[in-house]
Amino acid sequence: MAVVDEAAIETALAAAAKRDAAAVREVLAKARELKGLGPNDVVVLMGISDPELVGELFDTARKVKDAIYGPRLVLFAPLYVSNLCGNECLYCAFRARNKELKRRALTQEEIAQEVRLLVDQGHKRILLVAGESYPQEGFSYVLKAVHSVYSVKSGRGEIRRVNANVAPLSVEEFRELKATGIGTYQCFQETYHRETYKRMHVGGKKRDYDWRVMAMHRAMEAGIDDVGIGVLFGLADWRFEILAMLQHIAHLDGQFGVGPHTISVPRLEPAAGSDIASHPPHAVSDIDFRRIVAILRLAVPYTGIIMSTRETANIRRETFALGVSQISAGSRTSPGGYGKGEDLKDNAQFSLGDHRGLDEVVRDVASLGYIPSFCTACYRLGRTGKDFMDLAKPGEIKNHCDPNALSTFLEYLLDYASPETRTVGEQAMEKRLAAMDPRCRRAAENLVQQVRAGKRDVYC
Ligand code: SAM
Ligand code: SF4
Repeated sequence: MAVVDEAAIETALAAAAKRDAAAVREVLAKARELKGLGPNDVVVLMGISDPELVGELFDTARKVKDAIYGPRLVLFAPLYVSNLCGNECLYCAFRARNKELKRRALTQEEIAQEVRLLVDQGHKRILLVAGESYPQEGFSYVLKAVHSVYSVKSGRGEIRRVNANVAPLSVEEFRELKATGIGTYQCFQETYHRETYKRMHVGGKKRDYDWRVMAMHRAMEAGIDDVGIGVLFGLADWRFEILAMLQHIAHLDGQFGVGPHTISVPRLEPAAGSDIASHPPHAVSDIDFRRIVAILRLAVPYTGIIMSTRETANIRRETFALGVSQISAGSRTSPGGYGKGEDLKDNAQFSLGDHRGLDEVVRDVASLGYIPSFCTACYRLGRTGKDFMDLAKPGEIKNHCDPNALSTFLEYLLDYASPETRTVGEQAMEKRLAAMDPRCRRAAENLVQQVRAGKRDVYC
């Protein structure tokens, strides 16, 4: 069976004449049971236009987000190691024919230098990113890069989880990638709409839609059971993309017993030399963007949603409550960007909406009532793929995530935060501890005490 059935999606969308308020409320009630939604339910939610019902959709998403994730927000930083690329994605500054771009693949030593800077800021998770063309040694460049990241120790810190966003690989290459100890393998389909895909990808290996759409199947076959999918919103109708993404998820679930660990929701941002990036053919408005996050939260409640610094601080704040569970902070999208202290226009992938540093983002989210988490415990304890979902679905995972979020947040506050952020953070921690149920609080207090006593990297 094909991963994406376009005809079925078109039929569902065409039949989606506006439903009455009662039908919408029925779907929202089902969503509150935390068991997810089917495509027909999602079509009903995508058809809402009445502002009152949109409000109810958001309200339901907030409740579901809170029930499953509580106030935690996991933080990470992208690490662009190379902007060499053999593809022609019309929306990306790294595409092969963009002669304005200064090409650079960091050496392993330069990668380690960038990582040291991120560790010294307090990061514990990195998303390694590269274009689809590697220096002389070929794909083993990426494998070495993962080792380089893990090799760095600086002060009291180190990177404890490397996720990777690189071009689709063969099963054998995925096995090699897994052996380096990566956490999640991430790759976005960009658009599930075949015809749009063809128009947007006009050169290089990435032209092959099927090779890309089957990437997660190959990754899982190779034993990488945490995979992250995504759509680049703005290329095709967002309603089509959501239904197709749900088909992708169902296909993985059907074959491997588990869907993706995360979904990313990048929106097209201006990129050097790309008209399409500045004028997206199906631009997604801010309100629709919030609806996308809310609908995904209800459709697949246990799948993390990642929000990058492509978005402005305001949009990020609004979508945290609606369902986002992971955010990047202090990002650069050019190889060597951390060392330079800023993205260089002539080698960055696209422009960012949120330019704040990690300390400021941490202070902001903590003052909004969230607990910034640097936790990496699950993957290090082997709680990945189906094992993770088996803990997440009955609500068990919270008993691990909540204490671990506090212990890693405290590490950050003690080792890296500015005095102002430490004050805000300590208050947020106290409030959170007081709100926890007794079992969880005991576990959290135990970890927190250990961190205050000087221990690091403690988790449950
Ligand atoms: N080169 C690999 C690939 O294409 O899968 C992996 C890394 S690529 C640098 C990471 C992601 O950046 C792409 O999957 C795409 O969704 C996103 N991207 C590219 N151009 C963008 C733009 N103008 N605005 C926002 N995101 C963009
Ligand atoms: Fe290359 Fe990825 Fe950019 Fe496409 S999106 S041009 S594959 S870096």
